[in-house]
Amino acid sequence: MPTNSSSLYLPFGENKNAAWYGKDIVSVKQFSREDLEYVFGVAHEMRGMVERVGTLDLLKGKILANLFYEPSTRTSSSFAAAMERLGGSVISINEVKYSSVTKGETLADTVRTLECYTDAIVLRHPETGSAEIAAKAMHKPLINAGDGTGEHPTQALLDMFTIKAELKRFDDLTITMLGDLKYGRTVHSLARLLSLFNVKLNYVSPNILKMPKEVMDEVSEKGISQNEFSSLEDVLPETDVLYVTRVQKERFENADDYKKVKGAYIIDLDIMKTAKQKMIVMHPLPRVTEISMDFDDDPRAAYFRQMEYGLYVRMALLAMVLGKA
Ligand code: ASP
Repeated sequence: MPTNSSSLYLPFGENKNAAWYGKDIVSVKQFSREDLEYVFGVAHEMRGMVERVGTLDLLKGKILANLFYEPSTRTSSSFAAAMERLGGSVISINEVKYSSVTKGETLADTVRTLECYTDAIVLRHPETGSAEIAAKAMHKPLINAGDGTGEHPTQALLDMFTIKAELKRFDDLTITMLGDLKYGRTVHSLARLLSLFNVKLNYVSPNILKMPKEVMDEVSEKGISQNEFSSLEDVLPETDVLYVTRVQKERFENADDYKKVKGAYIIDLDIMKTAKQKMIVMHPLPRVTEISMDFDDDPRAAYFRQMEYGLYVRMALLAMVLGKA
């Protein structure tokens, strides 16, 4: 362990007095501006340590359960990598069809079982509110990795870290969210977190995929300006962060509705000629057709860097809830 990271490293046991020790991370509503600064500080140190030494033993002996009832590539593997880079280990349950869930076990019983064997659980589940139900049933930390169309708090935290790392500030930025704002849980969490700062929010979507009123009401209570559009051309030139989302096919009740909106917006080199030179394009990924691959080499394409920032943020969150940061 390098000596200059000793502020982070707690070699003997956990710091049970640390603010985030034992806490669940269910919603971004739990985070203040000060909490964000703290997460960013720890994530920054994690980045430095990964670059210098690769793997640490901060969480040696700790076990994480990764419980995924919905598909995932980045969230599950970055949590697993985060835990292993901190010296811990992971039990992954991705195929719930091979678990007792298919025998009719409730979510509450499943998480109470897993917490007997592990120190924390990361949960992704198709139902909104499931993370809260699981957290109430458990005694150990529960981290929400996406609850239906509800929230995806750790994605929003890594999105905020990306914006800070790339543009150095939040205040006075114009952030344009594009695509499926109705079903996209990442934008629900991100809009709420951004409302802690002096930002301007633009929402661009097909009429049937607008940002839910509940989220807009919460954001407007913070005095943040929000405007809705159907055409990206109206707002692209003023945008500092373009946050593109996938149309969430799996949430549609009617396949025809999905077909009508699936290709509504496509970001390519041509449309990006009207955007600022100093701005970034983000996407929680996976992308389908909404960002053309010919844009990937443009320096404004931040979505691959965004994934890497996610590792450091998830390392920070694990260290925090397990009393090591
Ligand atoms: N990976 C993100 C999520 O789980 C975004 C997406 O699936 O489109 O919400």
